[in-house]
Amino acid sequence: MIDGLTPSLFENAVGDGAAPALSQLAEAGDYRRAVTTFPSLTPVCLTSIATGAHPDVHHIPHLVWWHREEQRIVEYGSSFGAVRAAGARRSLRDTIVGMNRDHLSKEAETVYEAAEHAGLTAAAVNITCYRGSHRYQPTVPGIAPATLGPRRFFFYNLYESDPIGAPLSVRNRAGGSVDEYAAAAGRWLVTRDGFDLLVYYLSDLDFASHAHGPDGVREQLLKTDGHVGALVDAAGGVDEFLERYAVLVCSDHAQTNVHHAARLEDHVQAPAIVTASNRAGMIYTDDARLAAASLDGVEAVDAAFFLDEGAVVARKDGEEDISLLDEYPLGYERVEAALRNPNAGEVLVSAAAGWEFADLAGLHHAGGGSHGSLSAGDSEVPMLGIGIEPPARTTEVKTALLSNLLSSVS
Ligand SMILES: [Zn+2]
Repeated sequence: MIDGLTPSLFENAVGDGAAPALSQLAEAGDYRRAVTTFPSLTPVCLTSIATGAHPDVHHIPHLVWWHREEQRIVEYGSSFGAVRAAGARRSLRDTIVGMNRDHLSKEAETVYEAAEHAGLTAAAVNITCYRGSHRYQPTVPGIAPATLGPRRFFFYNLYESDPIGAPLSVRNRAGGSVDEYAAAAGRWLVTRDGFDLLVYYLSDLDFASHAHGPDGVREQLLKTDGHVGALVDAAGGVDEFLERYAVLVCSDHAQTNVHHAARLEDHVQAPAIVTASNRAGMIYTDDARLAAASLDGVEAVDAAFFLDEGAVVARKDGEEDISLLDEYPLGYERVEAALRNPNAGEVLVSAAAGWEFADLAGLHHAGGGSHGSLSAGDSEVPMLGIGIEPPARTTEVKTALLSNLLSSVS
């Protein structure tokens, strides 16, 4: 899983030497574009991939949301400033363990839980949706609470199921040491063939794309490709790798260029709590239509969505018409599922092209790249399958992986 990789970046890089490992895999597989969930933000998207479900089932609504029961903001790290504004300690806990332990619905089943139920060994590297049935203490006592992960579990040096002697991961984000840690764990796992199912998550590309825009990351893509190549090399080459494993390569969401930023809360003319970040916002309010109507004509806003007596309403520039959703990939399915999440705001807001909503700390990525909206540019992802039919939705990845595994053991 390559965070933030756009389909066009993948399609252009494959075959031209900018991504030798991905090119080798692409040559052996089938490719299509697939659609992620909404809001197209990493915690929501990764949880959809890991649980095979939209937010109505898994309950993770956004990067930043209002916890109705606890009457507080949950912030999974829109930016370092936002984490600080939300209370750094609490935000780190929410991101590291709260999302999996408290916020992720008990009714949802992760791909790791499903695999281990079937007697298989599941592994997760760095992915933030990792819930499994094995209990882990942090590698440094006291820095984080215990958490539940799969049998093989490597999470930014914070939790490690096995001592692998990898370098520290969070020391130098911009220098790429997060993915270097992932590659060290991945190499260790492949060398031992230590899993039946591995979810291997590389996040540095998304980080670079926020800073430089989706067209400015070819240098990072080469590094990311090297971290994919690390797995292939650990198996002894591409033939050996593909003989041993079926592979899906995808991203959790794409990115589009952003040039302007707006504070969504400045425009909402209704008693409300507003949580916004990147290219999606949520409004918690008793009067959804009034709040949505206050965004009519706001340049930063593409459309607002809410439920009216249980029915989905799409509103754009004062017009309410459900066929507006036909403009977006799987528009109705994704908006309905996002609105039927009990942790979501009453109104969901998708940003206009080129616009971003500033986060709690007022930070944004204008001049770079962003994602979160319902639009195709943020929502379409590359999906490459080798030995597995590439699914059309990221919510179908879990089933695709499991049915491949279960048919090969039986
Ligand atoms: Zn991102």
